[in-house]
Amino acid sequence: MSRLNIGIIGAGALGLAAGFYLTRSGNRVTICEAAPFLGGQASTFLIGGTPIERGYHHLFKSDIYMRQLLDELGLAQQLKWIESKVGIYADGRIWNFSTPFDLLAFKPLSLLNRIRLGIVVKYLQHARGKDPFESITASNWIQKYAGSQAHDLVIGPLLKGKFGKYANEISMAWLWNKFALRTTSRDKTGYKELLGYPMGSFGQIFTKVSEQIQEAGGEVRLSTPVQEITVSDGRASGLRVKNKDGADCFLEFDAIIATVPSYLMPKLVPALDKHYSTFLTKVDYLAAVLLILVLDRPLTSYYWINVADRSMPFLGIVEHTNFIPPEQYEGNHIVYITNYLDVDSDLYTMDKESLLETYKPFLHKFNPDFDLSWVRSVHHHKINAAQPIITTNYSDKIPGFKTPINDLFLANTTQIYPEDRGTNYSVRLGKDLATLISRKYN
Ligand SMILES: Cc1cc2nc3c(=O)[nH]c(=O)nc-3n(C[C@H](O)[C@H](O)[C@H](O)COP(=O)(O)OP(=O)(O)OC[C@H]3O[C@@H](n4cnc5c(N)ncnc54)[C@H](O)[C@@H]3O)c2cc1C
Repeated sequence: MSRLNIGIIGAGALGLAAGFYLTRSGNRVTICEAAPFLGGQASTFLIGGTPIERGYHHLFKSDIYMRQLLDELGLAQQLKWIESKVGIYADGRIWNFSTPFDLLAFKPLSLLNRIRLGIVVKYLQHARGKDPFESITASNWIQKYAGSQAHDLVIGPLLKGKFGKYANEISMAWLWNKFALRTTSRDKTGYKELLGYPMGSFGQIFTKVSEQIQEAGGEVRLSTPVQEITVSDGRASGLRVKNKDGADCFLEFDAIIATVPSYLMPKLVPALDKHYSTFLTKVDYLAAVLLILVLDRPLTSYYWINVADRSMPFLGIVEHTNFIPPEQYEGNHIVYITNYLDVDSDLYTMDKESLLETYKPFLHKFNPDFDLSWVRSVHHHKINAAQPIITTNYSDKIPGFKTPINDLFLANTTQIYPEDRGTNYSVRLGKDLATLISRKYN
């Protein structure tokens, strides 16, 4: 096979995985990334000199593509499986929410509705295939089978928190898959959930991939936003980029992969036809907004608390150091307060001081002793296009890898379905696309 020269836009999990597997099959890749760091949504920053994800990250046992990548990079020994402690905030307090026994003790629901929800969850965990769930909303399905109390007190507020104004449009196929996949991360007893974390952070995976690409003669250019995908004679011929030094530069390629959100494609490719551009905008996204508190002591004893109370201004609390011990972070206790938001919402536009001011009164509900004097530092990250909106009959809205322009390929999180988007599925897409390209040009 002749060696192809391939341009990749984006050094997130997908772009890096595509680059890694294309390099392995003998091609040369150049990855252009707008940000000054690797990893996109799964990128890291430093807290007291130690890397940690901008948004909390873990792996499930079913994340076989990430596990395989770790193996291939010689990083498998870094991956540790740790029991998670999950809670739910409802009816004014935190309830354990990890095991079937916890559900039985969840008093906000009547005993009958607890049993009913337990049976429904069991059914969903073992149901195979998305087809029966594709065309019905999660909201309607849950009301029908688990009852309106389970919907109004548990699932409804969680959908509202995660998807905001889209909550009533979300497909049951998305919710079914969440339940089905999570069972795969349970231990042999079925009661403990084990989650994976690459000790040292996800960042080391991306660094190693980037190093291997460069050792094989490829390039990974950070702080290099792509401004245009140029098209000549009906094919994608190259990328117009702004270099680190601010100078414009043109790079020529045999084929180009874009891993950007779908709505950016019409801006990057002026030559794209209207019909395809309109098709791409059928999937909306929400942004993730993270306020990260570095504390001198724990806030709670939970790793993950879902907030099923929409009078609260956030969706969840993820206390990373109840998963990975604080000793790994120089004794700091690290708490993410998380939200998924529209980019025009008030909370999205707030700075970290205003967000902390808004969230502070509610943090007392998770620990009545909480005091601002516990806070060593505050960090704030906004991640755009973090969550594609998975509506009913979503299969019809998924774009293929191939675009109407020859030699231009699109791969992004809108193509992940029915699974919820995650690093594992971005790696799967990157690998699948590398295979498709290697075969097509062979
Ligand atoms: C808060 C949060 C928590 C999460 N938790 C988990 C978890 O626990 N486990 C898990 O597996 N996954 C998790 N995910 C999901 C996971 O991080 C993403 O699904 C995955 O990282 C997406 O990778 P990607 O490469 O497809 O997209 P992205 O990471 O979005 O990468 C796209 C890249 O393209 C770049 N780009 C865009 N435009 C241009 C341009 N014009 N020129 C050059 N570059 C450009 C962007 O800067 C970005 O780096 C989480 C996500 C969020 C937001």
